[in-house]
Amino acid sequence: AKSWVMVKHFDGFPKNSDFKLQVEELPEPKDGEVLLEAVFLSVDPYMRVIQSKNPAFPVGSHVVSDCGWRSHALSDGKGLIPVMPDWPKDVPMSLALGTVGMPGLTALYGIEEVLRLQEGETLLVNAAAGAVGAVVGQIAKIKGCRVVGSAGSDAKVKYLQELGFDRAFNYKTVGSLEEALRSAAPDGYDCFFENVGGHFSSLAIQQMKDFGRVAVCGSISTYNDAKHETGPYPLIKINMKQLKIEGFMQSRWEHEHPEGLRKLMGWLKQGKLKFQEHVTKGFDNMPAAFMGMLQGENLGKAVISSRST
Ligand code: NDP
Repeated sequence: AKSWVMVKHFDGFPKNSDFKLQVEELPEPKDGEVLLEAVFLSVDPYMRVIQSKNPAFPVGSHVVSDCGWRSHALSDGKGLIPVMPDWPKDVPMSLALGTVGMPGLTALYGIEEVLRLQEGETLLVNAAAGAVGAVVGQIAKIKGCRVVGSAGSDAKVKYLQELGFDRAFNYKTVGSLEEALRSAAPDGYDCFFENVGGHFSSLAIQQMKDFGRVAVCGSISTYNDAKHETGPYPLIKINMKQLKIEGFMQSRWEHEHPEGLRKLMGWLKQGKLKFQEHVTKGFDNMPAAFMGMLQGENLGKAVISSRST
């Protein structure tokens, strides 16, 4: 079995030397255990059972497991999440890590539980062409809203337009970000689905309508910030506009996952939810895929296919 381990905590942006590939011999599974083999990997690896001494997980079943960046792993079954038993044959299984998996659920809960987005409202989402962001924008369209998205390349902006976003812009080349945010929604934003943080947020907050709502899903621009600076947050604007800002983790609604996944799969099958994946081939390329994702190389969910061909 191969596994990637982090040998050093990241100092700023991750480097190849922060990771090490290890090879180890795994013992035969004991009673109650199963041997897993990675098929697709992400931060939340998707595995299939290749040996089983646990009747709950017969050989060949597919599960989602958070056992790390590993090609194989032994498990006693605790924490393994079976992939929907009636997963449609024409839908790629890798979507269990993306649109019909944790990122899709994150988008759904952020919109329905945190923002409680209403028909006719205007929503802003950043990192909009990524795994979470692309689903956010499409669910907002399903709900009859006006959607503005930002992303880091012209190809991503084109993709957002294809997905039905009303306005999309490249935050890297737009010139004045403030002006881009204003002209995309001159009356302001009712809701802001926040994935990026830092400078972007400070400007976006200033374009919110009074009583606007912000769902803080993540702040990817600050994750590799060695000094952990979060940028200036305009408290006066939050005060004067009487904004409601709520951080959330998708795990809060764990009990609703099966229903949420069925909803996402339903929209997907109806053609209302489209997807793109950025697939890197080969387990050995995991660190490169991870660093590429942080640098915005991915359009849609970044997944690693364990096969190298
Ligand atoms: P994505 O697929 O969106 O990939 C990350 C994207 O972030 C990159 O493609 C890049 O796109 C963008 N990005 C990277 N650095 C910056 C930067 N400095 N400024 C602006 N954009 C940047 O990842 P996910 O969909 O998996 O995650 C999106 C967000 O959701 C993250 O903040 C993540 O932490 C969060 N998250 C939160 C969860 C929760 O439960 N709260 C669960 C899952 C994810 P671009 O080219 O546009 O720059």
